[in-house]
Amino acid sequence: MQESSSRPSDNTVSEQQSVETVFNQLNATFATGKTLDTGWRKSQLTALKRLLEDESDALQDSLYKDLGKSKAESWTSEIGFLLSDIKHTLHCLKRWAKPRKVSTPLVAQPGKSYVIAEPLGTVLVIGAWNYPLQLILAPCIAALAAGNCVLLKPSELAPTTSSLIQKLIPRYLDNTAIAVIEGGKDETTDLLALPFDHIFYTGGEAVGKIVMQAASRHLSGITLELGGKSPCLVERSADIAVAARRIVWGKWMNCGQTCVAPDYIVVEACVKDALIAAIIKEIRAQYGKAPMTSADYGKIVNKRHLHRLESYLEGANIISGGQVDHERCVMAPTLVDDPAADSGLMQEEIFGPILPIVTTPQIFDSLVALKARPKPLALYLFTGSREIEEHVIRTVSAGSVCINDTMMFMTNPELPFGGVGNSGIGRYHGKAGFDQLSHLKAVMVRKFWLDVKLRYAPFSSWKLSALKKLL
Ligand code: NAD
Repeated sequence: MQESSSRPSDNTVSEQQSVETVFNQLNATFATGKTLDTGWRKSQLTALKRLLEDESDALQDSLYKDLGKSKAESWTSEIGFLLSDIKHTLHCLKRWAKPRKVSTPLVAQPGKSYVIAEPLGTVLVIGAWNYPLQLILAPCIAALAAGNCVLLKPSELAPTTSSLIQKLIPRYLDNTAIAVIEGGKDETTDLLALPFDHIFYTGGEAVGKIVMQAASRHLSGITLELGGKSPCLVERSADIAVAARRIVWGKWMNCGQTCVAPDYIVVEACVKDALIAAIIKEIRAQYGKAPMTSADYGKIVNKRHLHRLESYLEGANIISGGQVDHERCVMAPTLVDDPAADSGLMQEEIFGPILPIVTTPQIFDSLVALKARPKPLALYLFTGSREIEEHVIRTVSAGSVCINDTMMFMTNPELPFGGVGNSGIGRYHGKAGFDQLSHLKAVMVRKFWLDVKLRYAPFSSWKLSALKKLL
């Protein structure tokens, strides 16, 4: 246990403490230099690991209450994901934190140059509800590894997980440096008024703009992990059975409420029927004859989102699914045939279990329309053709590209994760997260023993021509 663990949990952030008091306390801790010590950082990451291991049952229960997540899904996409992130970070921290030597040009000799990663200060992490544990703690891992103090604001739309996080964090971590504040719009607005050194936000685009505007008042750094419509292209040479299996896995995990879930399919007409048949077969294989009652199938986070999703189905050409259980907040895995380009389904991020299937004569034909849309967080392509694979990777912009699978790129901590354009600003996971929440400070150290006069006035024509050759 950390030094903080003996304190009662309500000693960290209680209702009585204003957000400003908490913020000042974190800044005061940062000013002591305590978090610069990599030993301290490792101790906090180890304590977080212990929290996840000791409390995994309670965490799984809370994820079930908030989102109907099965134990297996909670483990793979939240708890297990975080544990491997911590293990990787602990393994690499010494290397990431080491000064990074770079060469020094002739004009600056004798001298040496390097880059050191220094912590930013106090980082505000604002999480989203769909992976309410992973999305608040993964940025926290990066922030602690980089030596920052952290204030966590979990999503109020996953209330059980949010309150459990607030209860557990102070029990395990150093509560002079890591704090949790629960709440929704009002509390977040209060937090955003404070001059944080960095704000790490995960959520929708509209609030992302509010966060960016608030950050501009203090010139706080920002990371915006947003969403959007992630397309999934299926070309005729793909292995249709494997493609369908992987699409069903990626689309209906957490009931489609995943920022990198395939939002819609674009399929070549000649394999469309085969793909639809294979997807329907796979839904049955993975979730049984009645997916809505499967223990492995989650629920929609709340009634507002369920109604939003239902409205997308009005007048839609439903191929399969479409059933809704209002009481349990569940919608069946649903396939929709060729929705209109101007429909809600094709204009807004679906963020639910509806999968539109858009037909194209050839994948190449669909790329112009795809490139005219906002840049997606993820782009999926199923193909057996190297030429098409390379063309799409090279010419279509997206936060991440995954060929012949969905979402698997998230399992590789060596790959940076983040959006581009409307899908976000900045990146994290592994070293990318460490760098994102560090300032990469340039250092040059010179010597006194040689001081060439060339750069000093008075200047002459020979000095200028020598400088032109040297610089
Ligand atoms: P959300 O409703 O949980 O909101 C996110 C956070 O913003 C919450 O902590 C909430 O309290 C805060 N918030 C809400 N309204 C606010 C306001 N007016 N002012 C200040 N703060 C406010 O989550 P959401 O926005 O519904 O999340 C869904 C979106 O997030 C989707 O677009 C999805 O693609 C995206 N997302 C992205 C990632 C990623 O890693 N890139 C991950 C998950 C979700």
